[in-house]
Amino acid sequence: MLKLMRAPSKYVQGENALAELYETVKDLGNSFLFICSKSGAKAAQPKIEQSYAGKDAKIIFEVFGGISSTGEIARMQKIAKDNHIEVICAIGGGSAIDTAKATAYYEKLPVVIIPTVCATDAPCTGLSVIYRDDGSFSNYIFYPKNPDAVVVDTSIIVKAPVRFLIAGMGDALGTYFEARACLKTNSPSLENGGITKSAMALCELCYDTLLADGYKAKKAVELGILTPAVEAIVEANTYLSGVGADNGGLATSHSVYNGFTALEECEKTMHGEVVAFGTLAQLVLEDASMEEIEDVLDFCCSVGLPVTLKELGVTDVSRVMIAAEKACAPGESIHNMLGDVTPAQLYDALLAADAIGQDYLGK
Ligand SMILES: [Zn+2]
Repeated sequence: MLKLMRAPSKYVQGENALAELYETVKDLGNSFLFICSKSGAKAAQPKIEQSYAGKDAKIIFEVFGGISSTGEIARMQKIAKDNHIEVICAIGGGSAIDTAKATAYYEKLPVVIIPTVCATDAPCTGLSVIYRDDGSFSNYIFYPKNPDAVVVDTSIIVKAPVRFLIAGMGDALGTYFEARACLKTNSPSLENGGITKSAMALCELCYDTLLADGYKAKKAVELGILTPAVEAIVEANTYLSGVGADNGGLATSHSVYNGFTALEECEKTMHGEVVAFGTLAQLVLEDASMEEIEDVLDFCCSVGLPVTLKELGVTDVSRVMIAAEKACAPGESIHNMLGDVTPAQLYDALLAADAIGQDYLGK
């Protein structure tokens, strides 16, 4: 297997980054369709209009339906065609991003990602999750390239509810441990390549940054203020986690997330919150040192990520087997683990992680 490294062509982050959006993306084309979530449009549209004021470029804003569904993507493609659009942009969270990436791919246009929350590592990755129009999961699309530009305006991110940033840290927590598991078994990355030293370095930096700056960033965003720690965590959640996972691969943490989507009692739990608990389960499966497990527990508790099943919304432990079975379905990334994992083994690891977490909270 050949080693492979992919990333967005351009990554821009900082206070009021959108004030310079025109300059950042002007070389990509002259007419831009911004596919927005409702809250994303509210937060970003005025700044973008200001950045384009007096410039020789056409901009259109369109609020999408909220789900990256096949119907919604077709509707965006039509708007792009009717208006001779040359660049597709996403404004919002994961669903707006996935809709824009797919629209750009089908229309063979460049794509710019402008996240207005920092809850997942979707902005920098080269893939999308697509749903049917009824909201059920349809398929993944793996793209031939990562986004042409990702622009993160941290003045907008700090105004979003802190739970998004915390969930983003949970998503980023899995990155290093999942890549390490893939490296051990010589499993391919999400981009189906061998894992480079560069990818592992990004994954390690992602974890180190979470430990160094997670708590400080959480306290700042609770107040809606921007500090160097917030900048560090936004970069960890977005670039380090996204490029790290893309090129480092996934293992147990993300399969646990997919498994728990089968439990309706966990519907309100965010992606990254489940990934964080899944990381604890992965460490149990790997029989990691108590030192490492305690580092992860310390981090989770300091930022408010769940360490027990109850915190995920599970009250009836017998239902955990349903999640374990789904997490171990064929094709799941948990099969990248050394020696493979059965549903029964994962069930036991989830219960053991829960017991350790409960004990830790009781300390
Ligand atoms: Zn994720």
